[in-house]
Amino acid sequence: MNVGIVGGGQLARMLALAGYPLGLRFQILDPAADACAGQVAPLIQGDYDDAARLARLADWADVVTFDFENVPAAAAHILAGRVAFHPPAEALARAQDRLSEKTLFWELGIPTPNFITIDSLEELQDAATRMNLPAVLKTRRLGYDGKGQRILRIPEDIQLAWQALGGVPLILESFVPFEREVSVLAIRRGDGATAFYPLVENHHREGILRLSRAPCLMPKLEQEGWDYAHRLLDRLNYVGLLAVEFFVQEGRLIANEMAPRVHNSGHWTIEGAETSQFENHLRAILGLPLGAAVATGYSVMLNCIGDLPERSAVLALPNAHYHDYGKAPRAGRKVGHITLCGDDPNAVWKELKPLLPLVGFGLEEFG
Ligand code: AMP
Repeated sequence: MNVGIVGGGQLARMLALAGYPLGLRFQILDPAADACAGQVAPLIQGDYDDAARLARLADWADVVTFDFENVPAAAAHILAGRVAFHPPAEALARAQDRLSEKTLFWELGIPTPNFITIDSLEELQDAATRMNLPAVLKTRRLGYDGKGQRILRIPEDIQLAWQALGGVPLILESFVPFEREVSVLAIRRGDGATAFYPLVENHHREGILRLSRAPCLMPKLEQEGWDYAHRLLDRLNYVGLLAVEFFVQEGRLIANEMAPRVHNSGHWTIEGAETSQFENHLRAILGLPLGAAVATGYSVMLNCIGDLPERSAVLALPNAHYHDYGKAPRAGRKVGHITLCGDDPNAVWKELKPLLPLVGFGLEEFG
């Protein structure tokens, strides 16, 4: 079976690596000649609005999926008209616009921070007064990894945030003084079969995910998260893997955003779950039976941002798994990750300690 992937980053690369043992073939569409998924699968180099190349991918593939959520609506439309295209274009459209996404959460009874749309400095001043500071100003579209957002802490921040972000549609959200951040990874097949991975706890720095651990053994929250994800899957008639990120505040989940694709907080599933998120996404979009989404032990995943630690220093730890995405080093860029697995969480954390400084953490940050 042939799988086309729009976007050739590390997620497409890991999808292809997970699909080869199932006998799948891949082609990747990406504008960049050095897209890292192109090292493991044939690359069609072309823009995402290149109708001829989209058609070429669609005509070759049995199913087309994507590895980032900013696939242009026109491209999704062309693909969905020619070939099975999963996850659904509506999920993409909802996730591309924070207003539309939060409205969907709200319609389904999924709690979110308070939010107001902002299109002018006057609206921002008015909303900031009504909402009380701190609050978070975000671009409605094209924000990721904390880009396109500013925290307003004092009234003077309003003008500065407007200067930085104004001119495009914005949303002002109440600031959630969360205790922790978690995510749910959920899968649905076209016939309605679903599977849910254990709740994942995530740590960000400057808006970028740095560390995930799973399972995080909070059964009440996990059930709540699965329930919310299930509502989204069914409402969107979803096919594939959906990630939903939440804040935890006073023992309750507050939805931040969703990603209609495999997700960074699910990388631990490659070694730490019975079936990885990548394999299960492929199984779902191809209508194959889903694999068990259960953890086989305890896992911690560390993102390598900017550059990679020396390979042999990581491999010296017998329970560490090294993932080099084949990208050139660049500040702020996700270039790889490391997963540590084991049966005993304490032993995993002990083994993690020497790794923390190698990926830019202070030893004291995760004791
Ligand atoms: P986002 O791009 O919306 O996923 O935001 C990136 C990170 O910024 C989140 O993972 C949080 O750590 C932080 N953040 C975003 N929105 C809020 C909010 N309303 N309240 C508090 N922190 C936030």
